[in-house]
Amino acid sequence: MKKLALLVAAALMCASMAACGSSSSSSGSASASAESSASASASASTEATASGEETTGDTLIMGTNAAFPPYEYYEGDQIVGIDADIAKALGDKLGMEVTIEDMDFNSLITAVQTGKIDMVLAGMTVTPDREENVSFTDSYATGIQSIIVTEDSEITGPDDLEGHKIGVQESTTGHIYCSDDYGEDNVIAYTTGANAVEALKTGKVDAVVIDNEPAKAFVEANEGLKVLDTEYTVEDYAIAVAKENTELLDKLNTALAELKEDGTIQSIIDKYITAE
Ligand code: GLN
Repeated sequence: MKKLALLVAAALMCASMAACGSSSSSSGSASASAESSASASASASTEATASGEETTGDTLIMGTNAAFPPYEYYEGDQIVGIDADIAKALGDKLGMEVTIEDMDFNSLITAVQTGKIDMVLAGMTVTPDREENVSFTDSYATGIQSIIVTEDSEITGPDDLEGHKIGVQESTTGHIYCSDDYGEDNVIAYTTGANAVEALKTGKVDAVVIDNEPAKAFVEANEGLKVLDTEYTVEDYAIAVAKENTELLDKLNTALAELKEDGTIQSIIDKYITAE
């Protein structure tokens, strides 16, 4: 996991330099890093999806926000991680090539609704509000909202967050639930989790609420921070597709079931997350 820690450290350094925009919404440069050879057929399949027809292309475009280790992050100019590997395994099952588009987390739902991408794999939690706009496959992983604080913090659990400034990643469940529970005035939303962690390090916020695996990765890469041993919420991660794209939803669910059954999903998770 040392490699991951280094990468996260690099991402954090990026976050503090304005010129480094790996989380910017301009997906052009990011998509170039994915297998760009398939971009022609990719757009064909996207158009079909956007118009509500069956997916006929042989390329699946996965949308993500590649600042969420170990689910998705950059290794050089490649996007790697649990979600990237699962998408690839699904593509192999379905005989389709997978390309990855990196964008802001809060652009993903619109991107899949409009057919810019075919599916979202972004450690995305199934929520009733999101289900009004997209369809979710069966779940492939569990996420926990964790609390990161400085080592000397007096905050020991969710109840102590009351009245404190909380940093979150924009549009995530951490953002939504903290705004509901502690009031919008106490919550500061950042474009990426790395930016929220940077704000904690510089004292702009007193805690960061974010999914547990990225939380662990960020703490590993930063001195003086810890993840509290309490669960704020427990959530299911699933793949989001456009509501009208029922054919893709069915195909993904069938492939996902096979990949769970034969142990592929677990071995991908184990590759990136070491058991405690
Ligand atoms: N699981 C959280 C959500 O779905 C965060 C996901 C992310 O930041 N990539 O809102």
